[in-house]
Amino acid sequence: MRTTERDNLHSFLAAGGEMGALMRTHDWESTPLGAPGGWPRVLQDTLRLVLNARHPMFIFWGPQLIQFYNDAYRATLDAARHPAALGQRGRDCWSEAWDIIGPEIEGVLAGGPATWHERRLVPLLRDGALREVWWTYGFSPIVDEEGVRGVLVVCNDVTEEHHNRLALQALNARLEEEVAERRRAESELAAAKGRSEVALEEVSRASDQRRRLYETFLSNTPDLAYVFDLQHRFTYANAVLLQMWGRTWNDAIGKNCLELGYPDWHAAMHGREIEQVKATKKPIKGTVPFNGTFGRRMYEYIFVPVFGPDGEVEAVAGTTRDVTEREEAEEAISRNEQRFRSLIEASTQVVWHCGPDGAMEEDSPTWRAYTGQTYEEWRGFGWTDAVHPDDRAAALAQWRRCVAEGRVYESEQRVRAAGGGYRWTAARAVPIVGPDGAIREWVGTTTDVHDRRQAEMDRQRFVSLAERSEDFIGMAGLDLQPFFLNQAAVRLVGAASLEAALATPVQDFFYPEDRAFIRDEFLPRVTREGHAETEIRMRHFVTGAPVWMIYTVYVIRDAGGAPEGYATVSRNITERKLAEERLRQATVDLQGANQRKTRFLATLAHELRNPLAPLRTGLDLMQLPGASPDALGRARAMMDRQLRQMVHLIDDLMDIARIDSGKIELKRQRVALRGIAATAIEGVAPLMEAAEHRLEVDLPEEALWLDADPTRLAQVLANLLTNACKYTPAGGHIALMARREGQEAVIAVRDSGIGIPPDALEGVFEMFSQVSQNIGRAQGGLGIGLALVRSLVGLHGGTIAASSGGVGQGSTFTLRLPLADLATAPGGLPVAGSAVAQAAGGLRILVADDNVDAATMLAAVLSARGHYVSLAHDGDAALAQARANTFALLILDVGMPGLSGYEVARAVRRLPHLDGALLAAHTGWGAEHDRLEAHAAGFDAHLTKPAGLDEIDALLARL
Ligand code: ADP
Repeated sequence: MRTTERDNLHSFLAAGGEMGALMRTHDWESTPLGAPGGWPRVLQDTLRLVLNARHPMFIFWGPQLIQFYNDAYRATLDAARHPAALGQRGRDCWSEAWDIIGPEIEGVLAGGPATWHERRLVPLLRDGALREVWWTYGFSPIVDEEGVRGVLVVCNDVTEEHHNRLALQALNARLEEEVAERRRAESELAAAKGRSEVALEEVSRASDQRRRLYETFLSNTPDLAYVFDLQHRFTYANAVLLQMWGRTWNDAIGKNCLELGYPDWHAAMHGREIEQVKATKKPIKGTVPFNGTFGRRMYEYIFVPVFGPDGEVEAVAGTTRDVTEREEAEEAISRNEQRFRSLIEASTQVVWHCGPDGAMEEDSPTWRAYTGQTYEEWRGFGWTDAVHPDDRAAALAQWRRCVAEGRVYESEQRVRAAGGGYRWTAARAVPIVGPDGAIREWVGTTTDVHDRRQAEMDRQRFVSLAERSEDFIGMAGLDLQPFFLNQAAVRLVGAASLEAALATPVQDFFYPEDRAFIRDEFLPRVTREGHAETEIRMRHFVTGAPVWMIYTVYVIRDAGGAPEGYATVSRNITERKLAEERLRQATVDLQGANQRKTRFLATLAHELRNPLAPLRTGLDLMQLPGASPDALGRARAMMDRQLRQMVHLIDDLMDIARIDSGKIELKRQRVALRGIAATAIEGVAPLMEAAEHRLEVDLPEEALWLDADPTRLAQVLANLLTNACKYTPAGGHIALMARREGQEAVIAVRDSGIGIPPDALEGVFEMFSQVSQNIGRAQGGLGIGLALVRSLVGLHGGTIAASSGGVGQGSTFTLRLPLADLATAPGGLPVAGSAVAQAAGGLRILVADDNVDAATMLAAVLSARGHYVSLAHDGDAALAQARANTFALLILDVGMPGLSGYEVARAVRRLPHLDGALLAAHTGWGAEHDRLEAHAAGFDAHLTKPAGLDEIDALLARL
């Protein structure tokens, strides 16, 4: 269907009735001729003429004699021939008649003269049998600048006419015979005196009959037939002539040309001709246009004398034939010849002829002009002197071979041009074969192809360069359809094939959101400014990944300077872009780190300076002569606190430094999580206390065994709990929970505090990071606690994550640690609870008292002895601590809010993990019944407030 649509575009196939339609739909593309758009101009012209003509016409085209014909011709073909004959090879189509018409057609095709035959017998297969067909036809060459390209056949099937003519001849012969007979009869009659009246009558009847036959014949020929009398009046006109005039017999007969409306000159001309026939007794021929009812047509006519019995011209008979089509065809041919001739004269092409032996004899002015050789220099094989020495031998050898074999000669060689320098030329010569089949001569052309070849070489150089390039190189038309892309381009965008890439419009190489920019903004800028450049992403065809390019585009211009398309040499800068992005990220990171560090140093300075002022004051106080022991004690305690805080700070810093330099070493052992949790809780108890937080501890019944460094892990939990305290407004709720999940211990520290905004969650574990809106809340923080926690957890093979419902929604820090594999436990028994109570060297002691000062005091003393003291300020807190931790000694105030000391003691006594623990009651009441009640509740000892150091030492000695 594609062929049809395209062919509709070719006007030369527009007309022509049935055949025109057939030709338009014919699948020419599968024939050697190819699509009609590419047919030579002369073929197109001749076809237009043939299709427009009403006279039968036929074309044999090219060496294969491909056939075309019009509707008028088609009428002469039977179903066996048509429509197969269209596009068929002549030899295949007319095999039965080829020995008659073949040599003639080939003769014309080989450059022989045009031919014309009147009523020639060419027997043809029709309706399955070989029939005698008479033709009036001529073969004319179809010529263009390349030489004879085909043969135009103008023809008429005149079989019927031929038969009529034969009949007429037979009739005439008989007529003559009969006339002679009549004469004989007449003389006999004279002699026999009317002896055979009857016979005469018969002759006359026969003559009448003959006239009727004659009339029938003349009325049925397509030619115009007529007779003039000696006064130039029509005495006979056949039916076609009357029709052409548009007159009836009565209206026309007896009138001369002028009276019948012929133009003056025309009537006068025929008058002269009739007189000439009369005078010379010879026929006369002519061609004349006439405007009759058939329109303006061209007529060929012949006037012949009609002799009377006396041998004088008695009348002039004429026949006229419509030759409009033939004339037109001949005119077209001569126009083509004219065109061809002027083309040769005008073109720079060199044209030459030579004899069958290949030696140049005939002068070639064009060759002389091109090479500057003289005729003498060029003659024979002298022309080879003008050929470049490197090409000479090959060109000559090729020429001799073609001459010897009678093959078409084609070769490209450099020829010295008249202007100096060698130029590339393409020579081509065809042998012209005579009717005898022998080569008569050679016609050759030499064309300057230097520029084309140079361009081709440039193109090849460009292509090989482009193909070697790693850059994206491409060219596209103004319609943005690419027509060249190098391999690198195909590779960069990941196209399946070069074809696939070429089928993709330029803008589709980019992301949809960039296409409008490319099409409507960027390329118009290129057109305006000649070239433009932009950094843009192309889209990988398969992965859709961005391919960053420096997209540089130039306008391609035609010889006249008008934009013809676009060319691009573009560089893939994806790597550079990625590197830039990495660099940018690194810079951002670095800036962040730097900011955090600056902030950290400021905070650090502040934090280190903070304790110095009270220490200074404390020292000053101690030096005051009148200072009371009480004041001194408070000062010492205060200085002790400040010092601890400072030491803690510095310890953290040193830990971080150690971890950073990989110097920290875990002292792993098998420990139960419970003990570690107890240690941590104990450490933060004062803070909890001070902020009046409620601590909920929820540990599973089963022991979660870890292979961990207990000190470090306690440090981790203490850190999380401290943060929970710090970032939760007073009176908050803090929970420490643990559970087993598969082979992991999952420990969570949850608070009801200020929470962490979602975007800050990830960052809190970064060194020196502090959530900006929490800064006000930070009670002395450096932003290193969580960094240290994460490092330590990491060293233990665990992970930590922060979560928060958002600002004001509290935070949860969840720690996951691998559980110890008990089956493959390392040597030694699991560390026992009591051992944990002593793990850190000193004893673990719980001091519970609702009097904070008293509790703190006692704790300070015990700490001074090297013990680890946990504080609780009510009974419930005390019991919670006792449940969660292992203690060697519990010193409980009896009168506490909530659970009393006795109740706590009774509960503690039921806790198996505190089996060996010592329970001491601490009351203001030293009465005996108090002691008894204490004993009953499960206390081991009873201390009366304020307990002296000796008493405490004695108690400790019991452990
Ligand atoms: P800092 O010494 O500042 O507490 P950390 O590394 O321990 O340093 O914590 C980093 C930051 O994380 C804190 O400054 C705080 O803003 C935030 N943060 C830590 N824990 C909590 C929590 N439980 N609730 C809210 N914010 C917290």
